[in-house]
Amino acid sequence: MNLCTLLAQAATRHARQTAVCSGTQPLWTFAELRERTGAIAAALRAQHAPGARIAIWSENRPELVELLFGIWAAGLVAVPVNYKLHVRELRQIVEDAQAALVLASPALAPGLAAALPCPVSVLGSPSYEALLAPAPLQIAPVGADALAWLFYTSGTTGRSKGAMLTHGNLMAMTVAHLADIEPELGPQCSQLHGAPMSHGSGLYLLPSLARGARQVVPASAGFEPGEFLDLCDIHPGSGAFLAPTMVQRLREALAARGGVRPRQLRCIVYGGGPMYLEELRKSMDAFGPVFAQIYGQGETPMTITGLARADHATDDAAVLAGVGWPRTGTELAVLDEAGLPQPAGEPGEIVVRGPTVMAGYWDQPEATAQALPDGPGGWLYTGDIGVLDARGFLTLRDRSKDVVISGGSNIYPREVEEALLTHPGVAEVCVLGQRDAEWGEVVVAVVVAAAQAPADAAALDAHCLERIARFKRPKRYVFVDALPKSSYGKVLKRVLREHLEG
Ligand code: AMP
Repeated sequence: MNLCTLLAQAATRHARQTAVCSGTQPLWTFAELRERTGAIAAALRAQHAPGARIAIWSENRPELVELLFGIWAAGLVAVPVNYKLHVRELRQIVEDAQAALVLASPALAPGLAAALPCPVSVLGSPSYEALLAPAPLQIAPVGADALAWLFYTSGTTGRSKGAMLTHGNLMAMTVAHLADIEPELGPQCSQLHGAPMSHGSGLYLLPSLARGARQVVPASAGFEPGEFLDLCDIHPGSGAFLAPTMVQRLREALAARGGVRPRQLRCIVYGGGPMYLEELRKSMDAFGPVFAQIYGQGETPMTITGLARADHATDDAAVLAGVGWPRTGTELAVLDEAGLPQPAGEPGEIVVRGPTVMAGYWDQPEATAQALPDGPGGWLYTGDIGVLDARGFLTLRDRSKDVVISGGSNIYPREVEEALLTHPGVAEVCVLGQRDAEWGEVVVAVVVAAAQAPADAAALDAHCLERIARFKRPKRYVFVDALPKSSYGKVLKRVLREHLEG
């Protein structure tokens, strides 16, 4: 089934309801969105053969909603690209995907055509509006295996890889989301796109729009905590997907304006990076029981495990510090280095099998064979280290490449970070390994000190001694003003590592 059927069905059922807003302003009803999508699909279909890749390079804009569905209706493949990348990186993705067209926002378009090997159309420009000649929405009949979205990973090593997500993958993600995370989604709800729509927030168009919820794209085209809080005061049943670092910024913004909870905030789904226990507790105090967590990766979008809002109603630190239960339809195992299942409580690599797991990486058979050694439909090796307990509850340790091996012992940075963050003098921290002649690697903590009462290295060392094993303590503290982060709010360990290695 073509993903665009979700839009067609929602438009039939909720024709006159608001489908898309720009900030506080309603833009299009579901009937209007269907019309615009039909027009875009017709124009794209006239110019591109089925399966052609259409790249989108834009900050968050309302047009992204009609574009994604228009691309799918035409039987084409969307390639949303992180708008904060360098043009050179965009070019590399466009070349890798052999994209037939790049749809770029007016802010990013100047000079682009000269830098790219394919035509560029500018959102909102006359040539784009010309695409919008009225046409009924015709949906290409595609199978579940048809490619829908090439999801480019951040490419920490070498060229970035395009995870091939099919219509079937994203439909399974949608159904699992409605089953496990936000079953209440309906026309009384709004989906706020604060996080980048080229990533998680764009994926969450699907379950929310399918249920008749309105899509709200902030006027700032991104995440401004003050604006976001205002929108949660206005739009009914506001919900959003946010990276943990965005949740922290939102909490700080709320505190700065007196702590009054936004009236319409219903749900914040966080994930994509570690949410530290200390921060989660503070955020739950500030916003109330609105939080749900997902653990996933581009290769199995938004869907490995989840911790529902009801699961957050606990004092059990082990539950709040975990990533939850396997998602509906997803199989999960933790394997040792020989590929055998680890007993409960023992760490190993997390592997996942199920209908959300990608078909492979675009044009990269070697990387595909590494991630999916049994071929498509087999286990996906996530590269994450985790621990399952006897009930099947998963706790994440770290990415396997981030584990620090010091004097022969494995140290999981996240555990050290959790300990340091309980010190009031620490605002943010990132723990990583630095090469060392004597120990192989030593633990280094890069710390953003709290503005009031900043901590020093001696105080933090004493703090760690009370909380974690001696050998896990950082041997070195580096104090910085801010941690380098991606546009998705993830700490860029690679940049910090390069900085430390000098
Ligand atoms: P990406 O494919 O860029 O979305 O990155 C996926 C990676 O982010 C995963 O493999 C994990 O290492 C990390 N991640 C995702 N969700 C969570 C979560 N809820 N808690 C901690 N780390 C997470």
